[in-house]
Amino acid sequence: MADDFSPLLAQIAEAAICLTDSGDVADYIPALARVAPQQFGIAVATVDGAVFRAGQADQAFSIQSISKLFALTLALQREGDALWQRVGREPSGTPFNSLVLLERERGIPRNPFVNAGALVITDVLCRRYLQPERAVLEFVHRLLGRTTVAIDTEVARSERLHSDRNAAIAHFMRSFGNLQGEVAAVLDAYCAQCAIAMSCAELAQAALFLAADGRQPSGVRVLDPLDARRVNALMLTCGAYDAAGDFAFRIGLPTKTGVGGGILAIVPGRMSICAWSPRLDATGNSIAAAAAIEQFAAATGVSVFGGL
Ligand code: GLU
Repeated sequence: MADDFSPLLAQIAEAAICLTDSGDVADYIPALARVAPQQFGIAVATVDGAVFRAGQADQAFSIQSISKLFALTLALQREGDALWQRVGREPSGTPFNSLVLLERERGIPRNPFVNAGALVITDVLCRRYLQPERAVLEFVHRLLGRTTVAIDTEVARSERLHSDRNAAIAHFMRSFGNLQGEVAAVLDAYCAQCAIAMSCAELAQAALFLAADGRQPSGVRVLDPLDARRVNALMLTCGAYDAAGDFAFRIGLPTKTGVGGGILAIVPGRMSICAWSPRLDATGNSIAAAAAIEQFAAATGVSVFGGL
């Protein structure tokens, strides 16, 4: 019989709620600063179709940078390996919204998960789609097999009105020829894509293809097995910005975090896990969600570095 993770998740949720006092919600996007901080949810989706939940696992939140995973997957489907001429595959060791390496590296972002890299991916999608943010949203709908997910237009507008840093990154890359569309159009699409709202259960289910060699449980192929493995490698090395090393050490799984407080983790061959709590540490990662996934990995022994 398959494992029942419900009792473990309930225990983790109880412990995690005590951690929701530390850290700060992201306030550089004013609409995110208004989110009630003492919230926590966790969900696990297994490759054989089971979903386990605890806490506010069905509460939608702003997925922010976790959307970069869906945008990257869509761009990979359309562009294949040509994408890697415009974006690197190395951890940055700098904050998610940093500009510093771009001058030395002539406008080529270090990886697709820092903001610079995600803006290049959005630029790629802007050339392919009239409404790139709708393309990302519809891609999420296809992954889930339902159309219940939406873009939170208030969060999108709020980020767009405060997007000077991302505008600077985009203009700088454009000066090197690594952004082909208009900066304003790229920023519109990027802010809308980051404002997709999803729950832990939806995120865990939408990302299951990364735990199943690129195929959703419905049988639909999303990526070929090699690209699925490569995306997992990028998540492990770059998915938590300059805390990626610490996450590999503590959790031992590919993860993607967002400033909305969500963290998605993949256990290749087995399951995906998503935890959410709005308060963040100095690197922009949710304190309670990281602790919860760490606790889940420790209790179950899952790790890409070998079983315990
Ligand atoms: N929309 C956010 C930004 O561009 C995403 C950052 C994140 O979630 O890490 O700043």
